[in-house]
Order: sequence, then C-alpha cells, then structure tokens
Amino acid sequence: MRRNDGTMERWNGKVTPHLVAFALSIIPSFPLSAQSFEQRLLAIPDTASLRQMSRDLSAVPHMAGTPAQAATRDYVLDRLRSWGVDAWSKEYTIYLPQPDTVEAWIITEPRAKPSRLALTEPGGGPQVPPFNGYTGDGNVTAEVVYVNYGLIEDYKTLDSLGISVNGKIVIARYGRSFRGIKAREAQKRGAVGLIVYSDPQDDGFFRGDVYPKGPMRNANGIQRGSMMNGNGDPTTPSWSSVAGARRVPEDSLDIPRIPIIPMSYGNARRFLEPVAGPSVPQSWQGALPFRYHVGPGPVRAHLHVKTERGSRAFHSIWNTIGIVRGARWPDEWVVVGGHRDAWGPGARDNVSGTVTVLEAARTFATLAKEGQSPARSILFATWDAEEWGLIGSTEWVEELEDSLKAHVVAYINEDGTFSGPTFSGGGSPSLKSLFRAATHVVPDPTGPGTVYDVWLKAKKGDTTALTFGNLGGGSDFAGFYHHLGIPAGGIGFDGPDGIYHSMYDSYDWMSRFGDPAYKSHRAGAQLVAVILGRLANSDLLPLDYAAFGVEMDALVAQLDSGIAKKQWTATVSTQPLKDALDRFTAVARAFKAAGDTAHVNADRAQRVNQALMLVERRLTRPEGLVSRPWFKSLQFAADLDNGYATMAFPSVNEAIRYADAATANKELTDLVNRVDQARAALVEAAAALR
Ligand SMILES: [Zn+2]
Repeated sequence: MRRNDGTMERWNGKVTPHLVAFALSIIPSFPLSAQSFEQRLLAIPDTASLRQMSRDLSAVPHMAGTPAQAATRDYVLDRLRSWGVDAWSKEYTIYLPQPDTVEAWIITEPRAKPSRLALTEPGGGPQVPPFNGYTGDGNVTAEVVYVNYGLIEDYKTLDSLGISVNGKIVIARYGRSFRGIKAREAQKRGAVGLIVYSDPQDDGFFRGDVYPKGPMRNANGIQRGSMMNGNGDPTTPSWSSVAGARRVPEDSLDIPRIPIIPMSYGNARRFLEPVAGPSVPQSWQGALPFRYHVGPGPVRAHLHVKTERGSRAFHSIWNTIGIVRGARWPDEWVVVGGHRDAWGPGARDNVSGTVTVLEAARTFATLAKEGQSPARSILFATWDAEEWGLIGSTEWVEELEDSLKAHVVAYINEDGTFSGPTFSGGGSPSLKSLFRAATHVVPDPTGPGTVYDVWLKAKKGDTTALTFGNLGGGSDFAGFYHHLGIPAGGIGFDGPDGIYHSMYDSYDWMSRFGDPAYKSHRAGAQLVAVILGRLANSDLLPLDYAAFGVEMDALVAQLDSGIAKKQWTATVSTQPLKDALDRFTAVARAFKAAGDTAHVNADRAQRVNQALMLVERRLTRPEGLVSRPWFKSLQFAADLDNGYATMAFPSVNEAIRYADAATANKELTDLVNRVDQARAALVEAAAALR
C-alpha cells in the first residue's frame, strides 16, 4: 500500500516490483512497469498545449446560462474527442436568474440630487454585468452603515456601539467569510440592501501594484459572485434537476431577499468617505486614505436590482464527462474535475483548472493509444454553474449518487489554482500522503528541484510545516466529499492576485502576471496526472488511513476547547471518541504494514479495495447534519457561520455551538459508532489481504 511515499516510489524498497511488473507485463494493455508509465505521464503535459487551450477558453466571459458558456462545452468535447477520449455532455435545467437591471445612486446629503454610479470595469472588453448571483430584487433608498466584513462578530461590535442596521443599506467588505454569509447576516438584522466591495487592503494597492501595472485589484475591479449559501439548484435541494423534477416554489427558496450590488473600491469610496457616526474600531480600518466611520448616514444609497423570475429564470447548464477506460478494473473509477464557468474571461478561475483537467485527459488518452491504458477507469469532468453554488457537480452527484458511491475511488478537484509559484493543496486526510508523494516526482515550475524541494525550502526545511488543508466550502469536491463520503482533494500553485471574479481575470493577466510561461499549469497537470495515475494503477488504493486516524485524533482538541468554553467538562467527554480513533488508527497501521509486504493478485486486490472504499462512506449518515441535511459526512463540513472555513466533526461541533450538553453527548455517541463501523471496513480490508 505504501508505494507512494518518497522511498518506495523508486521501487527499491521492500516491495518486490519485478514480480508485479512481470505479472502485469503479461496483460498486453498494461504498462511494463509503473515507473515507465509515470515517466510518460510526466513527459506528455506541455506548456504550448496548455497555453493554447487557456487562450481559447478565456477569449470571452462565459457565465453559466449564456451562449458563450455553451460554446465552451463544445470546445471541451471537441478537444476530448480529438484525443480519442469517449466524451459526452449532461444537461440540467437550473434556476439561474440573470440580471435585468443593476443600478446604484449615491445621495451624499439629505437634499442632494442622486448621482448615478458607473458600475462597469473599463478596458476589460465585453463583460458580465456587475451583479451577485441569487441577489434579491428591490428598489430601495436608505442610509449607509459600514459593517466591516459583515461577520457575526462584526454585528456584535455594532451592537456594543449601539448601532442598528435595521432599515439601512449596509456596506461590507469582501473577505474572511463566504459572501453569502454576509447577505444572510445583513438580511437577518433587517438591512434593506447590501453593497459588497473589495477593500484595497485585502487585494488592492495595499498588497501590490494594481492591474494593468501589476497583478492586484485596481480601483475599478469588481468581485462578482453568488450569494446562495446552499449547494446545487435551490429549486431541487438534495435531488437532481433532471427533466420533470419536482421544484420548490420560487417564493420559498433559500436565497437572499434584499438587493445586493458588488462594487469596486472606486465606487465604495464615494459612500465610505462621507459616512459619519463613530470612528471605526482599529481592525475595521481599510486602506482607503481617510478614517472610516460606522454611520449610519448621512450618505444614502439607492439600489435598484431586478433579476429574472418565473420561467424566465430557468436556464440550461452542461457538464462534460470524458472517460479513459480501465484495462484491469474498469468498474473502479477515479474522477477528476474542474468547473468550466466563470464570471468573466476566467483565465485563472477556472480556465486554469479546466485546462489542467484537459491536459491530464490528453496525457492518459495518449498513453492509452500507445497500449498503456490505466488499470482503473478515469473520468475527466468539467462542471457548469459552479460559480452559482457548485451546481453542475451537485446535480450530477445527486443524480448518480448510487453508482458514484459504488464505483468512485476518489475525486480530484481543480479550481482556479494555477496562477503563481506557490504550491498548496487540500483534501481528505486519507489522500494527503499521496499528494505529498506526488510532489517528489514533479519538477517545480520555478525550481530548482522538485515541487517538494521548493516547498520544503519555502518552509525553511521544516518537514512538519508541509501540511495540506482540509475541505470546507467553496468548490465542486463538496458533492463527492461532504455529500457522499468519497475521498476528495486537489492541489495548485498560487501567487498574488486581485482579479478574482472580475473582468481582469484574463489571458492578458495570466500571461503577464499569473503564469507567463505556463509552467505552473504544466506542473499542475503533471501533479494531477501522477495522482490520477497512482490512484488508477496501484494494486492497493493509496488511501492512508493511518495518517487519517492520527490527523482526526489531533482534531478532537477542537471539540475539547468548545466543551471547556461551555463549561461542560463534567458532563461531556470526548474520551470515547479518542479511544475509537485510536482503535481505528491501530487497525489502519496493521493494515498498512501488511499491505507493504503482501503480494496481491487482482482478485484479492479488488476485495481489499472494495472494503477500503467503504471507510469514509461509513463516516457519513443518511440524515446528514442537523443544521444542513445535505452535508452527510461527519468528518468535515464548511463552518455554518463562515461558509469557507472548515469544521472538523461538524455534528458534534455544531451541537456544542448551537445546542446543549445532552445533544453533544448524543452526537458523540453516534460518531463513536460510525468510527467503529469505519474501522470494521479496515478490518475487512485486512482480512481480504491475508
Ligand atoms: Zn472557481
């Protein structure tokens, strides 16, 4: 099993690869050795190919629901088929209201004439109107209150200052939370409208030169984005938007009711500068050149937003799927995907992820043509309408739930992540060893050495700092990981950027600042190919449950601190959970040790792997979290109060945060039982190995 760490990958460890290679070589369509297969995987991805696809796909803005986005579907299918990949598209009809009217005025003094704001991004070519997906409609005028990031704690600060946002239009800066949380919290407190803007402190001149001189956000840059907190089509929560699907009525959808407009700091400044009232707490001060005040008023905003409603609001979206069939275990699927829609040209978010998926497809297709098919099947997906709420991937996962649970080994997600020199990644703790191993064999885009070498150097030689994140909210892994319990994760390269969700996320930006030589794209495609290759070809799936157990065990401390804060230590104990995780880890270690030395034939490997695939499925429950039934995994979820941040053991964590000691105990007992069930899958895997 541990063929994927630094020492074993050269095939000079305890495993006797010659026997395996000999056994495999008698199957004609299988590679002579895993090493030469991997060398081909590294050799094929090409900067010119990536650059061409990046340029083509970012030529025009391609928001979900538009003709330009239908054209990217055809482009992707055409590319895949030209390489010999069997590919098709999958259509869904989605509630996706496009904007009819987005207008704003500023009224600086009580009797002043309203002055209309220009809400565009000059010089960016054709553009998507500046609006937020799933904004409410309205035509409102009110005094402005500055609410910092619009977090729950920011409203507590306002309470302590004696300032209410009831009946006001709030102006919040982007950052620190998913934007949908800002809308939810503003609306909850009676605000009648919301302006969201990008403060230069967060991704503008305060961080570096602004576009077109540098990569950061200029005074006209606007961050669009969805305001929905749920995942998938809001009219079909937890079932798929296929033809004839039952739909939740429009007036009861879980989306904002108040009008929301995203603004540049050029426009936001016009409101913030004349705001009176108390001076802001120091941490609320942004980088605009004056002291910020909280308000309310006297400056007023007039917001007018009208979006499609009724049948006009429904639009078609299309995922694309391509498959390179496995030669040995075709019914075990490795899935890789990235979203294909964008708020603008989207060279970074997410043409960079899309073309990396495509380049990996070209690589595996080339090998298959040379007679080197992967052992397992690999599915290459591009998702539509991710930007509106992970919609394409969610609808697909909801439609194919049973077969995905039965067949998918792991899901690799690539989203907006190839635009700089700095490597990072995140995923289920079971996949992190595999990701780390892949960094050892891929040359770094800037060098010298491998991705691992440069990563280690950046961490000043501290190997304990080479960590991967866990999965919260915000991308297409959620359907696989949070909803179905399938191991998921992804990797990327980032650098400074202030073009997120703006018209300036373009080929020009990418080729001048993000990744001029397309070497990060290539390294990304190579990493993805190596990760897919090992997931597809390892006899025993490279899922590291010993590391998983250790990491989860360490995270119990978060529950302990929550319990201590509530002063429940006398009645609520996490000891049974720690014990269960220790039992889990002990079995995982024994399995790993046995796997390192075992010689498994194809039939036995299949039985072992079927059991391994159950481990994380068993850490889900059908009824999901109390707060959000769609989130069925009990490992991690997006933090309900933040939207992006991760929360470990969410069922217990939320009971501590929102309920009482008895509920926390009930959730702990449920979790312990499920950890024991997951351990039973490992016991089964170990038995199949013997
Ligand atoms: Zn994205």
